[in-house]
This record gives sequence, structure tokens and C-alpha cells, in this order.
Amino acid sequence: MSDKKFETAAIRHQIERSSQKEHSAPIYMTSSFKFEDAEDARALFAEEKEGNIYSRYSNPNTDEFIQKLCLLEGGETGMAMASGMAAMFTSLAAFLSSGDHVVASRSLFGSTHQILTKLLPKWGITHTFVDTTDDDGWEKAIQPNTKMIFLETPSNPALDLIDLEFICKLGKEKGIIVNVDNCFATPYVQNPIKFGADIVTHSATKFIDGQGRAIGGAIVTSEELFPEIKFMARHTGPSMSPFNGWLLSKSLETLAVRMEKHSENALALAQHLEGSAGLKQVRYPFLASFPQYELAKKQMRTGGGIVTFELEGGIAQGRRFLDALEMISLSANLGDTRTIATHPASTTHSKLSEEEREAVGITAGLVRVSVGLEHLDDIIADIEQALNKSK
Ligand SMILES: *Cc1c(COP(=O)(O)O)cnc(C)c1O
Repeated sequence: MSDKKFETAAIRHQIERSSQKEHSAPIYMTSSFKFEDAEDARALFAEEKEGNIYSRYSNPNTDEFIQKLCLLEGGETGMAMASGMAAMFTSLAAFLSSGDHVVASRSLFGSTHQILTKLLPKWGITHTFVDTTDDDGWEKAIQPNTKMIFLETPSNPALDLIDLEFICKLGKEKGIIVNVDNCFATPYVQNPIKFGADIVTHSATKFIDGQGRAIGGAIVTSEELFPEIKFMARHTGPSMSPFNGWLLSKSLETLAVRMEKHSENALALAQHLEGSAGLKQVRYPFLASFPQYELAKKQMRTGGGIVTFELEGGIAQGRRFLDALEMISLSANLGDTRTIATHPASTTHSKLSEEEREAVGITAGLVRVSVGLEHLDDIIADIEQALNKSK
């Protein structure tokens, strides 16, 4: 961790100024960098010295982004990635070989699920899913060839939490790499490395960008594990562009204030909705009625920006509710300044059977709200009028 506080590191960590003495870091749109002489070129390629060679390997803007994110997560080093999925895939592929096994939380981002179930088996890598709330399940799922534990907490969209201290201890005992997708929480809300995680992966597209503009991702880890990730990334090319590195590094400057406000609005919305007629269950990690409230308080700084609730009228009412919204956007994204509502059962998770959906906590009437930064009164008013119209 930096000796500076979170907000200060996020704002003040900056690449070296150029001869122009710019205050805010400029964009280095260049594919390659010049060598001083033949010896400099040789030493850089031999990794005897650090420096930029080619933007697929490193670039000042993506360096600033990843160095800052490492400070905020408490990691030693890492790599900026073109997307969240590039980060997920690279962090898996770098360590797994034919015959290896992965234990993963059952509730995973859709494309991560596809990597584990459709792509990794092509290379002889198997997996076992564990129900998020089944603490005993993790140890039971571990096999002699288990190489990695991969998880998301809070889960999407059910918001189930996994005890990071417990999982990281289990991983250490068994010598298994623990990889946490921390996209939902962001480094402001939760730092898995502090609990012992070996790798933290991110989609920077969500709350890190925070304004729905760019796709990006990141892997944060230790010096010990980094060489495999660096080798895989350098030679397969999932690098972040300098422009996105510049943009997302600026985004990190405001992450703390944005996450505070997202969380404040989300908690207030959840408290307001709790007990409303026509709603079966309102879920938010920092709501006192949340089943894992104590765990949320232990491992999260705030409850984050996502609230879910359950409409009594199931799929049909879920669709009527979305159609009745006037301001709140219908979009697949989350972590935006704009509040976004989704109905997983009829969209993102419609291909799953009802049983499969139930297993990951997606009931027919579940609505997920990514609470934005608009005025709370306007967010509440839109949800109330849509609830009334869709009854
Ligand atoms: C969006 C998301 C991803 C994928 O990130 P992209 O930037 O879209 O590639 C991975 N994990 C979680 C939890 C996500 O929400």
C-alpha cells in the first residue's frame, strides 16, 4: 500500500512529467519507443533494465493506470488489460495447464462462466462450481489437481457474499492460487489482497470508468506470480490502449467520491424500498436485514452501488416494470453515473433453465438496479411510479 491515503494516491500518483511540464498527464499515442543505442535495446529486451519498448508490452498511460490501481488494491504489480474479459482469461490461462482443475463460485459473470465451461475444457482444464453461500462446499470441491480458486463477491445479480478471509486461508493451506474478480466492489469498497488473495481481476468498464465510456480491465498481483501473467499478456496481446489507460487513470482520481455517493444513494434507496407493498425482498449488503450483514461489514467499506429487489408478479411484472421506467435506463452495463435497471430472468440469464436460475438466486421477479449519481429523490420517484404502473 502507498503511504498516502486512498484518495490522495488516486489523485497524486502520476507518471513523470515531460519537458512541457504539463500538470495533468498527456496521452502517449505511440506504438513504439526509441532506444538510446544498441546496448540500450539489448538490455531492455533482456529485461536487465526497465523501460518502454512497444505499447503491447507497456506504455506510460497504461502504466499510470495499473500502478495506481495496484496502490489502491494493495498489490505489488499488475497489468492493464483491454477488457475485463481479457483480464479474466489471461489470469486463468497464465497459470492453468492441461489436467488442472479450477474451483469457482457458481454465480459468475456470464462470459467468465463460458470460459470455464466451454473454452478451458478444450485444453483439458476442468472445474467445479460451489454455491456461493455453501462454506463447506469449497473445501469439498478441492481436488489434488486444483490450481486456482476463482470467485466474485458480491455475486451478480444475487449479491451473495463469500467470506474472503476464509477462502484465502483455505487457498494458502492447500497451496492454491486465489483469484478474486473485484469488479462489483471496486478497490474503494473491498481489497481482497488484504485478506490474502493472490490475484485481483477487474473489469474497469464498470465503476472504475464510472461514466459508461470505455472498455478496460486489469490484473493486480504479487511480484512472485507476475512473470507468468506478463509472459502470457505480452505474447498474446490483450493490452489496454494508451487512450483508455489515460481515461481510466483519470477515472480513478474520482473513484472514492463516486463510490461514496453510489453507496449512499444505494443504501437510501434500499431503505426506502424495504417494506414497500408489492416487493418481496430488498437486498443490499449494508441493509441491517441483509442475511450476511456482519460479513459485509467485515470485508466491505460501504455496501457498493447495486440494489436488488423482487417483484411479486414474476417475469411478466419484471418486464412491465422496466417498460414503465421513465428516467432510469435499460442497459446491460452497470457502474454508471446514470441509474440502470435490468431484469436478469428475461435478459442476461434468460438462456438458463428456471432451476439453474434459482441455483444462483435469480428469481423470476428479480430486478437489479445499478444506482447512479442522480439526485436520490428522482431515482426513488421513477422507481415508485414504475412500481405503481406495473402492478
Ligand atoms: C462486466 C464484467 C466483466 C467483464 O468485463 P468487460 O470489461 O465487459 O470485458 C467481468 N466480471 C464482472 C463481475 C463484470 O461485471
